[in-house]
Amino acid sequence: MTELKVLILDDNNLTARAIANVAEFIGLSAKVTSDFQGFLDILHEWKPHYLIVDLIMPDMDGVEVLGELGRMQVDAQLIITSGAGQQLLHAAARSAGAHGLNVLGILPKPFNPKAFRDLINAETTSNADNAFGQQLRAENQANTLNVSELEQAINNHEIYLVYQPKVSCISGSLTGFEALARWHHPEKGFISPEKFIPLAEQNGLIDDLTLQVFEKALGFMKQIQNAKSSLRSYNRGLLLSVNISAASLKNLGLFKKIETLCETNQIKPDQLILELTETAAMDDPVMSLDLLTRLRLRGFRLSIDDFGTGFSSMLALVRMPFSEVKVDKTFVMTSADSRESRLVIKAIIELAHSLNMQVAAEGIEDNMALELLRKMGCDQAQGYFIGRPMLPEAFIEWTKKSYQHIDLQRLKHLHGLGLLDTEPEHRYDRLTKLCARVFNVDISLISFIDENRQWIKSSLGFSQRQTERSVAFCNQTIAQEDIFVVPDTLLDRQYVNNIMVTSAPYVRFYAGCPIHARSGEKLGALCLKHSKPREFSESDKVLLKQLTEMVEQEIEYNPLLDEDKLTGLLNRDAFERRAQQLLTIFVPLKKNITMYYFDLNNYKRIIHAHGISAGDEAIIHFSRLLSETFTDTELVARLVDDEFVVLCVGDPVANSLKNLADAVHYYNSTVSPHLNIEYTVGIASSHSMVNIDLQSLYMYADTDLHEHKSI
Ligand code: C2E
Ligand code: CA
Ligand code: CA
Repeated sequence: MTELKVLILDDNNLTARAIANVAEFIGLSAKVTSDFQGFLDILHEWKPHYLIVDLIMPDMDGVEVLGELGRMQVDAQLIITSGAGQQLLHAAARSAGAHGLNVLGILPKPFNPKAFRDLINAETTSNADNAFGQQLRAENQANTLNVSELEQAINNHEIYLVYQPKVSCISGSLTGFEALARWHHPEKGFISPEKFIPLAEQNGLIDDLTLQVFEKALGFMKQIQNAKSSLRSYNRGLLLSVNISAASLKNLGLFKKIETLCETNQIKPDQLILELTETAAMDDPVMSLDLLTRLRLRGFRLSIDDFGTGFSSMLALVRMPFSEVKVDKTFVMTSADSRESRLVIKAIIELAHSLNMQVAAEGIEDNMALELLRKMGCDQAQGYFIGRPMLPEAFIEWTKKSYQHIDLQRLKHLHGLGLLDTEPEHRYDRLTKLCARVFNVDISLISFIDENRQWIKSSLGFSQRQTERSVAFCNQTIAQEDIFVVPDTLLDRQYVNNIMVTSAPYVRFYAGCPIHARSGEKLGALCLKHSKPREFSESDKVLLKQLTEMVEQEIEYNPLLDEDKLTGLLNRDAFERRAQQLLTIFVPLKKNITMYYFDLNNYKRIIHAHGISAGDEAIIHFSRLLSETFTDTELVARLVDDEFVVLCVGDPVANSLKNLADAVHYYNSTVSPHLNIEYTVGIASSHSMVNIDLQSLYMYADTDLHEHKSI
């Protein structure tokens, strides 16, 4: 028998040696080189059967190498390797094929010995005669499945499920789990779904199997949601992901049955994510689009699984109504070493986000990958580092531990921030007032959840400073990543008997958005309550989220940076950052924005007559009167010297200017006649402006101020 020879061209000696070792282990003889001329020499003399060529080398262009080999009409079997990512490898393989080369396959880096063995083995099982080959053939035989066995297994309900957790990249808390099918053959042992799923697909068994998966998974979902423990509230917002084969997309009846199963288990379709591979969706784009749109309309969430491995254009896919993109694990697993992988991930995240889709990364095997993905803005993470696929009982245990762990982290952080048991602060009160006003609700709260209670940092329409944790709606909100809404508490089993519902304030409607610390932990919630039931639209959610970001910014508040030293008001920078945010939120909503620009007329005279400290005194008093008058107004700031600004969302409170005038007058006549503060105000209102931005507001207000001064 002739010896099979493999020649490896790779500038990385370590990888080259690793490949050579595996090759030798399979019984091939291997040679390694890192320069093209050497490669050509060995090729001519040694006449290898296999060539393994690295696509990216510092002083050589891999594609040119392929072109050269094509011109030489080399007939050895070619394997292309690279860390460049699947897409590029596939492109290179196609181009090599077009050059007339025999392309055996591609090998992504980092080098995976098994993938390599599979490639060679697929080709050599017929002629290689060595221990490894024999062993592999034996394994293959053991795993040779016949359809009737699988059919029997399905009929006997031998297929069971394991569940793999999916967590938020930001807060680390559980957001959902994926159901994965398992089969343990009585004699052949564990059989990978990668084997039996395709078999089921090819033999018309997949729909029966899928239906069983749904039966089991929905039953499990119902079980954990109705658990009597405190876990119930945590489990309420969890999403269940289930894999759907391409073949099933033709079967409308299957989805009808899935819907019925949801009803019988009291699971809403929007608690489900149907995972489809990219190729499945693009098999028959027109029909898929049709069916997928219908599923979306019924409430199901849809995810593109293994994204990035297929050949379909991203744009074609994004026209489909997906709610999530799952970055394929090959990119995630190589993200630390491969710049290409990182670029692909980054592009997927940007594209998905621009289309309002969530991004999940699978195959997170270490903390480094998790951190990297988190920094890149990925939303969800799944992988061995977070949790392996687990049997139901083990999964429940895992969730308990995970909740405890997350809550401990959260509490540590919350206590560290020193927000609990503090005095009310204007900065927060202005936001709760704004919230109540724009949503037109009875109650708005900023609350933080500690071990046993809900501490209310700021409230409108609610007088208690704290409640028990167990009765707080916000305790549910912090268990979720997203906004939590109860449109009508009387229709909600969890809340119908809640003390806030059965007695004052008789809450009928609740909506809350989790407040995150910068490091990701959920501290509490910005929430709305109302005495009548209500719907909460997608645009309401966006608005509440934006306002929550403003609360988060206040938590980051740093007196040293944000405060005017003399008056304690916001300084110019801090004002402008907040004003910008308010404009971004409210200009598109066509809310009127009013700016008042104040200037003391006699500041210089006061200093001249009574000295610097009298000037300071005037500034301090004026700023106090200003913030006392504009308590309901969003921003009050000192810009510079004797110039102040007030920014107000919506129509300004009637009489505030008159009240200020009265307050200043009273102050001048009784408290401090010698200072006799005089001021002028200029007003700008966004309703009368074409381009509404901060600069224009300043400009209009300033013009108005000078008109008043000159009178
Ligand atoms: P998938 O949908 O991409 O599922 C993810 C696979 O990645 C699972 O393999 C999971 O165990 C594995 N995985 C998760 N985290 C990591 C990690 O950190 N590192 C690595 N190396 N792997 C990780 P599994 O369970 O063997 O499933 C393989 C494939 O079989 C699935 O890929 C899916 O396409 C298919 N499959 C499994 N269950 C079903 C099912 O019920 N229906 C259908 N249609 N397909 C299924
Ligand atoms: Ca999947
Ligand atoms: Ca996948």
